[in-house]
Amino acid sequence: MAKVWFVGAGPGDPELITLKAQKLIAQADAILYAGSLVSEAATQWAKSSCAIEDSKGMTLEEITDWLIKYSVADATVIRLQTGDPSLYGALVEMVQPLDKAGIEIGVVPGVTSAMASAAAAIETLTLPEVTQTVIFSRVEGRTPMPEGESLIELGQHHCTLCLYLSITLLKKVREDLLAAGWSDNAPIVVVHKASWPNEEQVIRGTLATIKEQCKQAGVNAQAMIIASPALGARQWTEIKKSKLYDAEFSHRFRKAIKTQD
Ligand code: SAH
Repeated sequence: MAKVWFVGAGPGDPELITLKAQKLIAQADAILYAGSLVSEAATQWAKSSCAIEDSKGMTLEEITDWLIKYSVADATVIRLQTGDPSLYGALVEMVQPLDKAGIEIGVVPGVTSAMASAAAAIETLTLPEVTQTVIFSRVEGRTPMPEGESLIELGQHHCTLCLYLSITLLKKVREDLLAAGWSDNAPIVVVHKASWPNEEQVIRGTLATIKEQCKQAGVNAQAMIIASPALGARQWTEIKKSKLYDAEFSHRFRKAIKTQD
């Protein structure tokens, strides 16, 4: 029986694709990939007989028709997507018509761009007693946000925010975070093309400066905005250390050296 795999290709660097994804690509009979981001991975490991196409100009219906067309006999068909398929990837819209057609589905996770961006900037998204929560979200542009999920509301948690699809909305990011009680001096990191060999750019600024800095750098697409009270911690002289490695803290694999108070 044919199977359609929704495969996360990772954030851009072909070495950040999973072994499982690479193996599936090597055995695939048809690969429909999403734009230039993932084209290299698609073509690098595929068999010469594999049908490979870019979905850039296709509508949702054309995409699902393509996947169904190649789902014959026991074919392996891949929909190759950037990052992880479960984030801003129209997964359900594509799966439903395939379900209707009775086609088996599988999903292979990928490294999402928020993780690649944190890595590029050598930042931690959680830090003891500073923030222990990460929100993956976007700012309202043409896509409306569900109730309770506006940036003003999410910002009130003062935790780490990774904002996808919002680089052209930095003015609104500033307005909303200010309204949520953040300061204009709050550090912000924008990472453009995280993990892309020779193209990655890390821009560090504040809520007040980041928009102009991105403009100067010509960054207006394919960028992650990270707002977090933990940003820049690498330079801090005093940080609360993780309990896990604390000599005074016992856990399943290690007894405390001294007793805890
Ligand atoms: N499924 C993808 C997200 C797709 S939405 C994932 O898991 O990463 C597209 C948005 O992802 C872009 O607007 C940008 O905010 C972000 N993005 C994708 N690749 C990126 C990269 N290499 N560097 C920074 N941001 C990236």
